[in-house]
Amino acid sequence: MSRPIYATFDGAALRHNYLLARRRAPGAKLWAVIKANAYGHGQMRAAAALADVADGFALLEVSNAIALREAGYQHPILLLEGFFSSSEVPLLEQYRLTPVIYCREQLEMLAVAVRPMPIYLKLNTGMNRLGLVPSDMPWVWKRLGDLLLDDVTLMTHFADADGPRGVAAQMDHFRAMAGGWAGRISLANSAALLRYPGTHGDWARPGIMLYGGSPFADQSALDLGLQPVMSLESRIIGIQELEAGQSIGYGASFTTTRPTRVGIVACGYADGYPRHAPTGTPIAVNGVLTRTLGRVSMDMLACDLTAVPEGKLGAKVTLWGKGEGGDVPADDVATAAGTISYELFCALAPRVPVKEI
Ligand SMILES: *Cc1c(COP(=O)(O)O)cnc(C)c1O
Repeated sequence: MSRPIYATFDGAALRHNYLLARRRAPGAKLWAVIKANAYGHGQMRAAAALADVADGFALLEVSNAIALREAGYQHPILLLEGFFSSSEVPLLEQYRLTPVIYCREQLEMLAVAVRPMPIYLKLNTGMNRLGLVPSDMPWVWKRLGDLLLDDVTLMTHFADADGPRGVAAQMDHFRAMAGGWAGRISLANSAALLRYPGTHGDWARPGIMLYGGSPFADQSALDLGLQPVMSLESRIIGIQELEAGQSIGYGASFTTTRPTRVGIVACGYADGYPRHAPTGTPIAVNGVLTRTLGRVSMDMLACDLTAVPEGKLGAKVTLWGKGEGGDVPADDVATAAGTISYELFCALAPRVPVKEI
């Protein structure tokens, strides 16, 4: 038998979440954000699951966009960081890719294009990462005319749509920079799509919600009606019956205070499980929610089987998601580990086989 760890991918859940996003933003089209290998779920797997519902796909690399075209997808494709040199411009034309333009230099590089192409213009309204600033705009409006670029969508990205600052200040900046713009706009990530209907615009850009992660610290995926798409599953490969006063794993960071049955799980940080997950991180064994114990090692971690009578050698374990070992929201694992479900999903290691369910 092979090492018992695997991930599952639930394409029906991905479609469910996409359609939920559509119901929440009925007036907008939706880019399915499949950057970062579809948040670790597999770009081609995600594209296949969404092919008949998605309005378009958004990702980063020209090479990955070309892979979609070569697999036959005709959907609009948005390159969220545009392009990085003028040598890529012919590829944008050949493969009908829509670049995000976030600086004057990129717009200037489009002068080598044979024909005008659709573009997104990214405005910096407060994230202060990428985007045109107010002093760029007079030049930009003029260059759009020179380059005959008339298929333009204005976009921005929110820094705190999931947090207390919300979107109001960035919306004000956006309106000020856009002037009397009556063309298409694209503003919302998952958090804005769910919380601020006024941001839906013409095209929203949901990412994490498609994969069943909540964008909010104060609202669960379950409450939002989202379904987990990825689960990470393994088995108990060793049992330790410890007395009180014995410690577990590297650094002896956990010491028992009572007799404890410990299960050793074939999953470690080299599989993508967060090494910073402390004792007490939720994990399910044979349908029972329990907790991890001690430090996560490269290929193994330990869990408490004291209250899991069926937690025997070979018992099924779910690290996150809805699996054969039980139900463990990825957001809860992420919170315990001081991170967000985005990072858990993206970190899934290539050595973990994926089964489509
Ligand atoms: C990643 C990304 C998104 C999706 O964000 P989520 O929080 O995952 O919904 C939307 N827009 C841009 C520009 C992005 O880079």
